[in-house]
Amino acid sequence: MIVKIVSKNFDIPDSHKLEVALKHGRYESIDKLFTMAPDEVTEEVCKSGLRGKGGGGAHCGPKWKLMPPVDERPRYLIVNGDESEPGTFKDRQIFQYDPHLLIEGIICSSYAIGAHDAFIYIRGEYKWFIDRLNEAIEEAYTAGIIGEKVMNKYDFRMDITVHRGGGAYICGEKSALIESVEGKRGHPRLKPHGKECEWFYDMPATVNNVETISSVPNIVLNGYESYTKYGTEKAPGTMLFAMSGPVKNPGVYELQYGCKMTDVINEIGGGMRDGLTLKAVIPGGASCPILTAEEVEKAYLDYESMWDIGSTLGTGGMMIIPEGTSMVDVAKNLIEFYHHESCGQCTPCREGTGWIDKILKGIIEGVGKEEDLDTILDVCETMNGKTVCVFAPAVKDIIKSIVQKFRDEFIAEIK
Ligand code: SF4
Repeated sequence: MIVKIVSKNFDIPDSHKLEVALKHGRYESIDKLFTMAPDEVTEEVCKSGLRGKGGGGAHCGPKWKLMPPVDERPRYLIVNGDESEPGTFKDRQIFQYDPHLLIEGIICSSYAIGAHDAFIYIRGEYKWFIDRLNEAIEEAYTAGIIGEKVMNKYDFRMDITVHRGGGAYICGEKSALIESVEGKRGHPRLKPHGKECEWFYDMPATVNNVETISSVPNIVLNGYESYTKYGTEKAPGTMLFAMSGPVKNPGVYELQYGCKMTDVINEIGGGMRDGLTLKAVIPGGASCPILTAEEVEKAYLDYESMWDIGSTLGTGGMMIIPEGTSMVDVAKNLIEFYHHESCGQCTPCREGTGWIDKILKGIIEGVGKEEDLDTILDVCETMNGKTVCVFAPAVKDIIKSIVQKFRDEFIAEIK
């Protein structure tokens, strides 16, 4: 199940330092990169089937192809390291243990899309990781790996800037993230009907997640087959899965797609600790529909399998919930977070999250009524498909799934 591609160097002492990173393969892909045309790099990534690891699972190569042909305009790569979803803590492993892998991935990806400037947007609370990332970037500049000529020899300028977020969850949404980097309030933008690239200061841009970009050097160096030999047909390769909750070995593990969830919990996570039994799992970060213990038995860790059982893989942040946990408390905890984090642009989201928060507070304080549960489900429906971004539909999905699957528990609490 465990396959180490992105996490290959995580266990090496001082793996974050350039000297150590160079001894363990970092920047080896760059010489090969510059023997290829940018389109060839994009094609290789397309053939690898690499999918975005920031939540949506969109294919990376086709996304790069949305960039318009190179012209006199500047173009940008923006790397999404906001990682604010509760239960999601995988990208910070890359910042901590292998920031030079991310820099190498940025060089490869920027070359493919014709960008010379990359921004890394990183969660504001990650102060420690930001310092480490900045140290690595400084090392790369000093060694001439980036700057006017990549690796001191290739006629390709590469500049990288770290942008620290202000602590808003919604800035993980790519258009809100771009607004934030532009110095504006982090509000998601309305999306065009057709597919197109992103626009940063009205210039073409691509936004990719940290882990996605960090997966590119291996594909460049070893070819797409080195990636497609793992995982499933539709979800090739690997992903960093973060397992939290009362299992014996919580942590971040790089697994090939398609593993059985119970095997991951029992064999890698070591099973439930302290004699607890499994009640439910939120499979991919807090906004993914919850799975009951019975559904977990049928769950496989790839996008299509998760959709088939009514949830999503999200960012792979598996939150393990034991028997004895109140699902009313779980729902209240989550909605409080989402109410606080709604950017407030859309009435169904701003008011809906607040309304559900208020109803659940009433249930917990002993003034709830059984009809409140139908009101929650009604409010959820008003939040679906009527908003600027997918925040509200995602909140609807998680809250609705908890209320529907654990309705008896809510009724018992009300009574
Ligand atoms: Fe903001 Fe919510 Fe509307 Fe998204 S859905 S733009 S978070 S108000």
